Amino acid sequence: MDAVEDVGGFDPRGYNPSAMMELNPQQIDERYMRQAIDAACVAEENGDVPIGAVIVHQGRVIARAYNEREQLKDPTAHAEIVALTQAAAALGFWRLHGCTIYVTLEPCPMCAGALVMARLDRLVYGCADPKAGACGTLYDICRDGRLNHRLEVTAGVLADDCASLLQNFFKSRRRTNGEPADGQ
Ligand SMILES: [Zn+2]
Repeated sequence: MDAVEDVGGFDPRGYNPSAMMELNPQQIDERYMRQAIDAACVAEENGDVPIGAVIVHQGRVIARAYNEREQLKDPTAHAEIVALTQAAAALGFWRLHGCTIYVTLEPCPMCAGALVMARLDRLVYGCADPKAGACGTLYDICRDGRLNHRLEVTAGVLADDCASLLQNFFKSRRRTNGEPADGQ
């Protein structure tokens, strides 16, 4: 899979582990979130709402995906769902223990449910979603003690960058469609 690249871990081939060891946990989160933002930009080029995700396992990026709803004409082709499928293929198993997903926007109920089903360890997201957020805003599916698995959740990583990506997308789409600036 050429979309997947070694960016972490201790692979001596072209990667400097001491550089990663100097990063604190917040800097590591920001580093992977930047990759999710880069993926979101591909969605935007395709005319899809710019949302991106990467999944990291043992310091290695095993999935990099973006929202492809328009591209694939598939209502379930959210960045997280596409990334989960890639990650499971990379690991050869559906249970994604030991994985962290970085996603630019707070996951919706469908994706939050899928993250629980896939048994990831951790979710890191950028900006909150007041209209569909299911990881702390409207619901808290990933930390619901009634379900059979819970994820550790970190919110707000590079939130401003993630939010402005979306704001600029909707602003330019309204301009193109001649819609009023406050319309959704
Ligand atoms: Zn979703």
